[in-house]
Amino acid sequence: MRLENKVVLVTGGGAGIGKAICLRLAQEGAAIVVTDIDESSAQAVAAEIQSHGGKALPLHQDVTVESAWRETIDRILQQFESLNVVVNNAGIAIPENIEDMTLDQWRTTQRVNLDAVFLGTQAAIRAMKDTGGSIINMSSIEGIVGNPILPSYNASKGGVRILTKSTALHCADSGYKIRVNSIHPGFIKTAMTDPELAAMPTEMAEAFFQEVVSNIPLGEMGLPSDIANGVLFLASDESRYITGAELVIDGGYTAR
Ligand code: NAP
Repeated sequence: MRLENKVVLVTGGGAGIGKAICLRLAQEGAAIVVTDIDESSAQAVAAEIQSHGGKALPLHQDVTVESAWRETIDRILQQFESLNVVVNNAGIAIPENIEDMTLDQWRTTQRVNLDAVFLGTQAAIRAMKDTGGSIINMSSIEGIVGNPILPSYNASKGGVRILTKSTALHCADSGYKIRVNSIHPGFIKTAMTDPELAAMPTEMAEAFFQEVVSNIPLGEMGLPSDIANGVLFLASDESRYITGAELVIDGGYTAR
């Protein structure tokens, strides 16, 4: 029970990596607040946690809406009286090269992937500055290395990476016991990397992902649970001396 008595908020917790984080952290004793823009998926994840004897609260939340952050935090404090960990996980990817990308596509990506992490970070600090806690921001290897078909995603995830370090320093300087770290998944099997769901022709997407796998030193895409285990470590007190760090979980992709 590595997270006993901790209350954890996971955004985008209804699917993919977020869902795996919710289930794994609940196994370690945390009460999980599962929020998602798709309320029914958040409810399903919460029901799965509860069916195994865990504590979970599903909430509808669009992470891009500032007022929704206030409502979400108020609801959590009302129900659990404290908040210990915030995982800013919700994110989207719009594949389009720099020449063809529209300003609207660019802004949509920044709004969900970067502006919302800013809002979530502010809300988390407000809720945890007197008690301490851990903020975990979902960046990506795409926040470290460039990708010709993901310029807006690259920019947003690079922003998350360095926003995390700035926030970590601010919290330390202010004497808050809040640690702030980023996680950088490589290619992980979720809807975001499913060729059939990709925003490009399926054949092109399949060729893209085959090429990707051939460049992963460990020879396969990762699983959402691989990322959840990293989040678990950063959420727990085992990482008490880690702040402003970036945890890369990518099968060695960026080691070359
Ligand atoms: P996913 O399977 O698409 O799940 C993302 C979840 O976030 C979905 O439930 C989605 O709801 C929700 N969401 C989208 N926009 C939202 C909003 N405005 N407010 C609240 N929730 C919202 O994606 P994933 O692969 O698990 O990705 C999770 C995080 O990991 C993202 O930040 C992503 O950038 C990052 N990441 C993923 C990979 C990868 O290979 N999969 C690699 C590196 C980093 P809907 O489905 O209803 O839109």
